[in-house]
Amino acid sequence: MANFNTHLILAGMGNGLLASATIATSLSTTNEGMVLWLTGTIGGLLPDIDADNSSSLKVIFNCMALLLTMVIIVRLSHNHSLTLVWLIITGVYLSLRWLALPLFKQFTVHRGSWHSLLAGCTLSLLVTDIAWHVTGVSARFAWLLGIFLAIGYVIHLLLDEICAFDISGTRFKRSFGSACKPLSMSQPLASGIFLLSCAILIAWIPPVSVLKSILVTFTAISL
Ligand SMILES: [Zn+2]
Repeated sequence: MANFNTHLILAGMGNGLLASATIATSLSTTNEGMVLWLTGTIGGLLPDIDADNSSSLKVIFNCMALLLTMVIIVRLSHNHSLTLVWLIITGVYLSLRWLALPLFKQFTVHRGSWHSLLAGCTLSLLVTDIAWHVTGVSARFAWLLGIFLAIGYVIHLLLDEICAFDISGTRFKRSFGSACKPLSMSQPLASGIFLLSCAILIAWIPPVSVLKSILVTFTAISL
């Protein structure tokens, strides 16, 4: 498997190129392009957060804490006391650090159901739906966020699979086939939860016509 830095660099490069294409074709503004780039890069780290002591896990949880802190400040600081805002931020951080993180470690196995195309699809739909229904961005940008997360995820899985090929000995390592799988057959319960989540999230997606127009624009790009 590739290490953290390789995943970070390749996901950053791949998504950076795609983000520049969305700006060039006016699919996104420059600011939106930067957010897409960041989203795709995070997507390139997500599959390895199932490894308990991985750098990806620390980065993603710290990003999540930062994002939640920003949301709390933006949403609450105008109409609530500073003491209450600070208490909520502290409570959210402690819950993430001492509750969500240990639970996540407890229920995930490295290279299990989290490290699959199904998980990437579910998380991409989740991001699209939250962006569309909760943050109120346009359907176009909501779809783009999901697409970029999915691309980052797939880059990571493919890279791990490529690294399972031992070039010097022209043979496959034992890990070959465990990185880029459609779903984890060894964890049927977790895979079932992902499938069910996917089905529910599909019911809340933005208009599909917007997704089609994005894909048409992408395929018409002339280099
Ligand atoms: Zn991996």
